[in-house]
Amino acid sequence: MIQPLRGMKDIAFEDAKKFNYIIDCAKDIVKNYGYEYIETPKLEETALFKRSVGEETDIVTKEMYNFLDKSDRDVCLRPEGTAGVVRFFISNKLDRVGGKYKFYYAGSMFRYERPQKGRLREFHQFGCESFGERSVYEDYSVIEMVDKILKKLKVNTTLEINSLGCSECMPTYREKLITFLESKSDKLCEDCNKRIKTNPMRVLDCKNPNCQNELKESPKITDNLCDSCSSDFNKLQKLLDENGIEYIVNKNLVRGLDYYNKTAFEFVSNELGAQGTVAGGGRYDKLVEMLDGKPTSAIGFGMGIERLMELVEPKVSDNESYYFGALDKEYVDLLLNIANKFRDSKKVTLEYRARKQHAHLKAASKIEATYCVIIGEDEFEKKSVWVKNLNTQEQELIEIDKFIDITK
Ligand code: ATP
Ligand code: MG
Repeated sequence: MIQPLRGMKDIAFEDAKKFNYIIDCAKDIVKNYGYEYIETPKLEETALFKRSVGEETDIVTKEMYNFLDKSDRDVCLRPEGTAGVVRFFISNKLDRVGGKYKFYYAGSMFRYERPQKGRLREFHQFGCESFGERSVYEDYSVIEMVDKILKKLKVNTTLEINSLGCSECMPTYREKLITFLESKSDKLCEDCNKRIKTNPMRVLDCKNPNCQNELKESPKITDNLCDSCSSDFNKLQKLLDENGIEYIVNKNLVRGLDYYNKTAFEFVSNELGAQGTVAGGGRYDKLVEMLDGKPTSAIGFGMGIERLMELVEPKVSDNESYYFGALDKEYVDLLLNIANKFRDSKKVTLEYRARKQHAHLKAASKIEATYCVIIGEDEFEKKSVWVKNLNTQEQELIEIDKFIDITK
């Protein structure tokens, strides 16, 4: 028996309902902020991710699903959604046209990670990318949007924010940090030691509690911001305060991808154990340029659908549904004809076999239909159907013409 690959999952039945419910909720909200749907390929040149996500990140060094295709091209299943949208933005010359563009996407991402709760090898993200808006009001709006989605889904999270600075203040801070980290190198884990040289900011994000303890005294980026980054970060906090969005400043928050600057944020649930981040994002003003486009400000977020599925208790009430059954096979054509009309607006399950009334009722309950609709000789002669509401147990004989009126 063939099973799905390790870390990959089928999504069906109740899970599928939750999955769609989450994506529908998110879509409904981001559309009101002007975001439009985009679909980009799941397979891209590996170079795209090396150059955007960053050569020294976990994603690129350990987690990429890359391989040579039949023409020896180095290709990769996308590990995240931003790079593809940015590639689209540049290859369609939107960076040259200028202006503001907002896109949202939903789809599979692939990372070769150790599968565990909340960590899959194929998972799904809903995400948004906003191009051409450098105002900190946009940083606020993106956070507000994610907050709205999570509130609508009734998911409790803590918002953590930080500023990573910009090309003016971050490099000076980076040097200070390296000096500090080198002084602690014998106390930090092996991974951290490797990162001191390659990606010192990521050391701040080490999950090892010993390392976190050592890092308490580290220089903080928020104490080293330039005037513009500092005033933006203050404004962001003011906007969050004024609009009643609770947050904490996590001075060690850096993101797993290299392209972020200024605002970085995560929404973290305490109900998911170690894999608690349900959404993360931030500003990435340098990425368009890094991928050979004209400098363009940008900000976005990605949200993990599977992690949200663990937290969401949707009352996914399917719309009213009908079960149609005939007591004799000569009435099935008539039911098919009625079902055709109903299916313009209602969900109908039609049983093609003639069966006894009790068998139809049992089948209708099994599929949790709202109504069981039956036609037999008596009903046929009266040009009617027998309809039972399976929730209230009420039953009545309804003329077929009137019954069809329900759909109008
Ligand atoms: P983590 O620290 O949990 O590894 P990350 O920083 O790698 O997360 P991002 O790249 O920011 O995650 O992806 C955005 C969101 O996608 C995460 O907040 C999470 O909800 C989800 N996500 C990331 N990796 C996985 C995975 N392997 N399986 C399921 N969901 C994931
Ligand atoms: Mg990760």
